[in-house]
Amino acid sequence: MNRKTVVMKFGGSSVANIDRIKNVANRVVAYKDKNTDIAVVVSALGDTTDELEALALQLSKNPAEREMDMLLSTGEQISCALLAIAVKELGVDAVSYTGRQVGIKTDKSHTKARIITIDGKRIQKAFKHNKVVIVAGYQGVNSEDDITTLGRGGSDLTAVALAKALNADVCEIYTDVDGIYTTDPRLVKEARKLKTITFDEMLEMASLGAQVMQARSIEVAKRFNIPLHVRSSFSKEKGTMIVKDNEKLEEIAVRGITCNKSEAKITICSVPDKPGIAAIIFGEVSKQGINVDTIVQNVPHDKLSDISFTVPKSDLTKAIKATQIIGKKIGAGEILEEKNIARVSMVGSGMRSHSGIAAKMFKTLADNHINIEMITTSEISVSCIIQQDLADKAVKALHKAFKMEKI
Ligand code: ADP
Ligand code: ASP
Ligand code: MG
Repeated sequence: MNRKTVVMKFGGSSVANIDRIKNVANRVVAYKDKNTDIAVVVSALGDTTDELEALALQLSKNPAEREMDMLLSTGEQISCALLAIAVKELGVDAVSYTGRQVGIKTDKSHTKARIITIDGKRIQKAFKHNKVVIVAGYQGVNSEDDITTLGRGGSDLTAVALAKALNADVCEIYTDVDGIYTTDPRLVKEARKLKTITFDEMLEMASLGAQVMQARSIEVAKRFNIPLHVRSSFSKEKGTMIVKDNEKLEEIAVRGITCNKSEAKITICSVPDKPGIAAIIFGEVSKQGINVDTIVQNVPHDKLSDISFTVPKSDLTKAIKATQIIGKKIGAGEILEEKNIARVSMVGSGMRSHSGIAAKMFKTLADNHINIEMITTSEISVSCIIQQDLADKAVKALHKAFKMEKI
């Protein structure tokens, strides 16, 4: 019989306490037989990463990113060791490794490092000894031998990258919901589980705020065509397959609705309206490694205009500092910040050929007295920035208006 290699990834909620770790150990052991090699990637227990971050923020508003990586990476070291102990207790040999120990080499950008290479030799060696290999997700090591982390949700990326490095037959992502839904099932109880979703749609949904998969992990899965099975760690039911193409694609315009509450809006008032100004502003912001999203420039009055843009809340302090410096340099006015915003988006590959989605979205929001502050579109999505306290209402109204419980 052919040997099979499986990568299983368990998120924080799946290993939140000792009983759940035992549950995961049981699932891993049930999968293991003499012809199956298993690499398991784990996230930190429950909310450990948030808790560690909160500790650091009690000491400093702006802790050094290198130290944050040292700190946050410890969460996954705990969970992988505990899981290895639990698996061994069930009579199956297992070994836990940190990212560094399995040769996950990254670049130097602390807190959002990119994986450069993975040297799978140590894992293959453990497989030869019939061991289940348990890898701490979310981390690697850079060329200075410093620990790096791969961005929040980065254990998904560890799993996909390992699946590629090990040439795995299957990559399964176990979480606390039983697949990818039309929208967050915790928010909309009518949300429907999707049997399949394309890489493009999942990438768009993840980038626009569907927390269930890290966007960068989907980028890698797409690049190497690694199908992902997202499923529940608490049931045996089949979940959702994330794949290259979707047979029913043509019929469905909107596949999902997402909501992102983790952005903030910055407005630079009274910016001189002349060529090159936007290049100076956004050139400087991007130099700081900040990802700017939606940008809106108002129609100029008296050769002055306001420019608003959104950034991740986690980068707000850095972005405000940078814009204040640039603002002075270019002779702009006040810099305003607004944290109480949310991005609500509709996503679907069918939007390429269906028209009227955006118009129906705007009408639904208007009917619900929700003001739209900014709008952006891509080939397969439409997003509106609205007030955060209206976001849940907006998602529910859109899910209903587009009859998504039935698609
Ligand atoms: P894990 O701890 O397993 O990494 P996450 O908390 O990162 O899990 O992601 C799972 C959560 O994502 C779910 O509990 C759910 O509330 C949320 N979620 C948001 N949008 C969706 C969606 N479209 N489908 C499924 N889950 C979603
Ligand atoms: N523990 C990290 C986080 O909470 C990584 C992960 O869960 O994927 O973001
Ligand atoms: Mg996650």
